[in-house]
Amino acid sequence: MGKTIDVMSLYPKDMNIYGDSGNVLTIRRRLELYGYEPRIHQYNQGDEWPDHIDMILGGGGQDTGQKKIIDDFFKRADLFRSLAADGVPMLMICGLYQLFGEYFETVDGTRLEGIGIIGAHTVGQDIRMIGNLVEHSDQFGDIIGYENHSGQTFLNKDVQPLGHVDQDGCGNNGEDHTEGARVHNVIGTYMHGSLLPKNPAISDFLIETAVTRRYGTFDMGDQTPEQAAELARLDAVAAAARKAAA
Ligand code: GLN
Repeated sequence: MGKTIDVMSLYPKDMNIYGDSGNVLTIRRRLELYGYEPRIHQYNQGDEWPDHIDMILGGGGQDTGQKKIIDDFFKRADLFRSLAADGVPMLMICGLYQLFGEYFETVDGTRLEGIGIIGAHTVGQDIRMIGNLVEHSDQFGDIIGYENHSGQTFLNKDVQPLGHVDQDGCGNNGEDHTEGARVHNVIGTYMHGSLLPKNPAISDFLIETAVTRRYGTFDMGDQTPEQAAELARLDAVAAAARKAAA
């Protein structure tokens, strides 16, 4: 039996658009192929939080979905802040990326406070930013995905973006060529897609960080040749998609 890794899917009922649940499937599959035993938890409004979590994955949602979860989200804000400060790897897409920031003022003027893990704020506008997106990151290389948001996010000066967009695509705000953010081991991004099947470097960053935090080292001791072959096949599929997009 492999070593267990506990993965939390955050608000899958309300924050799950554009295939973001594929990120959870990818992490589960890659953990299995590395010889670990993924245990997938789901947290929706009002649920109990488990004793131990190694990684948190959150998806996007429309403004209405964000308004629905906001009260419950705030009840858990201190927990998310302390897990983030402890270095728990997290991936927050679009709607939850916005709520991990300081505030989100929606296009109808409603102000949703964020939990401030990411030093950024978001303002809704009438024009939506929609389309395929390629960004460049020193750590992860080219990242490919799909964006669809009305909110424009502006990072505070000291906040590192996840990547830079140089031509097609809008990114955080369509103005400063930044996309996403990186704070501790928290990645916030507008990239739907799903993101992780096409960007194995990000999946592996999340996995290696989670495993190392829990077990001290990341190793593939229990991996079978069949698992290694399947992992190579998944990486080849991702590489082909990346080549087509870049
Ligand atoms: N409601 C937010 C916006 O449109 C987020 C959308 C999303 O998660 N795709 O800016």
